[in-house]
Amino acid sequence: MNVVVTGGAGFIGSNLCRELASRSTVGKVVALDDLSTGFAANLAGTDVELVEGSILDRELVEDVLADADAVVHLAARPSVPRSLADPFASHEVNATGTVRILEACRRRRTHVVAASSSSVYGSVTALPKHEDLPTRPLSPYAASKLATEAYVLAYGTAFGLPALAFRFFNVYGPRQSAGHAYAAVVPAFIDAALRGRPLTVFGDGHQTRDFTYVGTVARVLADAVVRKVTHASPVNLAFGTRVSVLELAHRLAKTLELAVEIRHEAPRRGDVRDSQADDAALRGLFMRLEAVPLEEGLAETVEWF
Ligand code: NAD
Repeated sequence: MNVVVTGGAGFIGSNLCRELASRSTVGKVVALDDLSTGFAANLAGTDVELVEGSILDRELVEDVLADADAVVHLAARPSVPRSLADPFASHEVNATGTVRILEACRRRRTHVVAASSSSVYGSVTALPKHEDLPTRPLSPYAASKLATEAYVLAYGTAFGLPALAFRFFNVYGPRQSAGHAYAAVVPAFIDAALRGRPLTVFGDGHQTRDFTYVGTVARVLADAVVRKVTHASPVNLAFGTRVSVLELAHRLAKTLELAVEIRHEAPRRGDVRDSQADDAALRGLFMRLEAVPLEEGLAETVEWF
């Protein structure tokens, strides 16, 4: 089978491309990426074909998807602060770009697996986050990811497209970029600690996140493609482990065997307070799933740096 991964040169995408390329049942793997936040080097040493271009380019998308059996749609502007700085750009890539991909899949009924985000739960305070809870986005990014999953599932209902929409929580691991203004917390902390700088914590640090190792995410996505898994409603892709940002800092300090200094800054607009997945739906679809524990995942990530 031939698989196209949009955003395949990005953090999660490149880990997924590597996982797919290692599977005997998968033939060609193509990454479609405009390299806005991804890197060609993320795919170095693999047989993955990189097509450089945008998911907004209709002709290119039709061409790249012409003989695909499945598409994993990860391309996005993946950041809350960036969406606050430029909401329209987030909407264009995350919402309109998703419709471009779905339109190219519609005629051939190509299997689509897409990335949504736990940020769609937004201001809903109930824990753990169950997929049937209401959604209350706190940022344009979260609203655009809600559009992503809504379009994917609507194409499933309206046009019979085999579709699956995952809500990723906080994914971390090798190839996640550090050292820029919008870096995710794990690489930002590792980068700062290794440079002997204080770790910046927004707010009191008692906000919690459900961290998922990228190797686990890549395995689930690849299994979904190979087994052609579909589901009528969104599925959380995380395992209910809830860790505060301060605890993460301490665990990283232990892994790095470094003393770290914490510097608090004002809480960021658009950030949710607590996050923890209910994983019952995920475990119902993927029976023999084993998630890489946080200690092990952090050690792998630190080693990659
Ligand atoms: P990433 O920035 O590393 O990957 C996104 C990729 O999409 C990049 O390679 C980028 O160059 C590419 N891209 C952006 N706009 C494009 C366009 N117009 N055309 C083609 N390619 C384009 O981020 P990531 O963390 O790997 O995120 C992957 C997906 O997972 C995104 O959809 C994101 O919203 C979702 N997600 C990630 C997390 C997380 O914790 N990392 C959490 C929730 C959801």
